[in-house]
Amino acid sequence: MASLGALALLPIGLQAAAAYPGDSSQAETPTQAIRSYDDMIRELRKIEHTSRGRVTVTTLAEVGTAETHSEQGRDLYVAQVGQGDRHVWIQGRIHGDEPYGVEATLAVLKELGSSGQQTAELLRDEFTLHIIPMYNPDGSEMNTRTTTLWDTEADAPRTDDDGRELTVDLNRDWTLEGFLARESRAWYEYWTMVRPSYALDIHHQGRKRDPETGEPITFSLGISLAPGGPTLPDIRDGEFDVLTRQMASQVWLDTRHRGHISTDRYDVGGGQVIDIRGGVVSAMMLGLDWQGLNSAGHANAAIFFETSGNTRDGDLGLRGRGRFIQQNILGVESWLAGLATGDTVDLDPQTWDEIPHAPVEYYFTDWGGVIPIDDV
Ligand SMILES: [Zn+2]
Repeated sequence: MASLGALALLPIGLQAAAAYPGDSSQAETPTQAIRSYDDMIRELRKIEHTSRGRVTVTTLAEVGTAETHSEQGRDLYVAQVGQGDRHVWIQGRIHGDEPYGVEATLAVLKELGSSGQQTAELLRDEFTLHIIPMYNPDGSEMNTRTTTLWDTEADAPRTDDDGRELTVDLNRDWTLEGFLARESRAWYEYWTMVRPSYALDIHHQGRKRDPETGEPITFSLGISLAPGGPTLPDIRDGEFDVLTRQMASQVWLDTRHRGHISTDRYDVGGGQVIDIRGGVVSAMMLGLDWQGLNSAGHANAAIFFETSGNTRDGDLGLRGRGRFIQQNILGVESWLAGLATGDTVDLDPQTWDEIPHAPVEYYFTDWGGVIPIDDV
């Protein structure tokens, strides 16, 4: 198939991002500039309306999963676009204080719902996309990374014996033991219904600089089960160990020389890269089967994006807001187009080694502490 490349979509993405109000206003406070849950619903309905049938917006209550709401009782929203055989999962804002996954996913949805461009048509033909702008609505409204377990009868946070509120990092909550939060259970069942071929998870990291040049890094690409690490090579004879490297490499090649974007590989500092088995997209790669809902053993490859600047950085996180959103849009479009055209699977997986990164010395895990790479 002829290569269309991701960049054909860029001008549209640019329009979509610039259309958001307040992109460059100096007067706004962070929370005013961040989309609320209600803002998201309004925008989803608007996109659905103007797409003339291309976009369908549903709640998990309408889908009919056993669990349907967040801990605090909010509906969980997903939008579908496209009619291809391969299903694709894109989620934003699993961490509530990492806002721009909402804007980026909505911009991509709007584009795919309205564009007559060749690349958009290709993506709609090849894929059925399931776009989740706000995986964690309660944490988003509270502007917290985690969510808080909720006593629905008392309409108050659940607490431990010492009176501390019980909080959950939703990106550690897909485990063999089950789920602490209602939304984890709901989204998991939806995943078992969709059985996507690929998934993407959009995050924020703190401010990051290139250790050698001191230049700011704006965009880091990650794989939540470390390539070549203790987990990923053993899944499906290493199929995802190759495909995830190719996916990240495709996005790197398409973003590295674009405007203000400076792209590298994600790490958590100190020579440590993550190997997080309870992360949502990790559990997808591991083919998590909970109570027989995934007894057929579906699994899919996944990567994640990290944009510098979040609400924890206060005003700093807003400076450059427009281009931070924009790099995610460009990244999503690159990722999708590479998979649609087949360019990604033709890439040399060793391109992953060329993406700028600090030397990997340890695996930072949620199952075995910090493990030196020589011990694996
Ligand atoms: Zn995050």
